Amino acid sequence: MQRHRPSNAYLIDLDGTLIRGGAPLPFAAPLLDSLNERFVVLSNDAEHMPEQLSRSLRAMNLHVPPERIVLAGATAVDLVAREMPGARVMLLASTVLRTYARRLGIELVESGGDVVLLGRDRQFNFTRLAAAANAVRDGAELIIANPDRTHPGKDGAVVPETGALLNAILACTGEVAYRIIGKPETPMFWKALALLGAQATDTVMIGDNVETDGRGALRAGIAFVHIDDWVAQPGSSKPTTEQVLAGG
Ligand SMILES: [Mg+2]
Repeated sequence: MQRHRPSNAYLIDLDGTLIRGGAPLPFAAPLLDSLNERFVVLSNDAEHMPEQLSRSLRAMNLHVPPERIVLAGATAVDLVAREMPGARVMLLASTVLRTYARRLGIELVESGGDVVLLGRDRQFNFTRLAAAANAVRDGAELIIANPDRTHPGKDGAVVPETGALLNAILACTGEVAYRIIGKPETPMFWKALALLGAQATDTVMIGDNVETDGRGALRAGIAFVHIDDWVAQPGSSKPTTEQVLAGG
């Protein structure tokens, strides 16, 4: 462990760090209070909008305004709107993300198109799988909100995530190149730093997953602290992300 000057901005993972199984972890509210509004919650959620998540968190007594929440699904839609104006997009995602995409002026198509953008689509079915696989085969760019295959549900149940749907598409297309927006890639980290007006070198990522939170932080040049270490010794020291990954 190395000592550094105090960080002035924090990126905080959600699942496994602030909440678990739909309930807040005991240290979550004090943690957010202690960070004095210098934080952004950074989650690979590929289904909801920040406003929805903010409401859910408030019901758990965690107060995080929508503008302090960066989510993989909404970030992916933002990125396509910004970087690919005029693209015809097959968006496999929740109704709320589809509505958001239309509001940003994205043309949504049900087959073909220039881009297949994959979120956590609970209506995913055979027809959508066929349409997405054929669009990718015909040259559409494949962009995924996150690569996570599952997350743990209540009583240890397996809950399918966006990466599971990705694997269904890849089973049809064979290995093809695709772009990941969520952790461990960096687009959400850049968005969060911009929201905070912070530099990577003055920022800490707090999370429970070394492979996504830790590796993403490393790529963005941000130090990483595992939530267990933070709870044991709040804010007092932080290892470099390389050290965490080497030991993790
Ligand atoms: Mg987590």
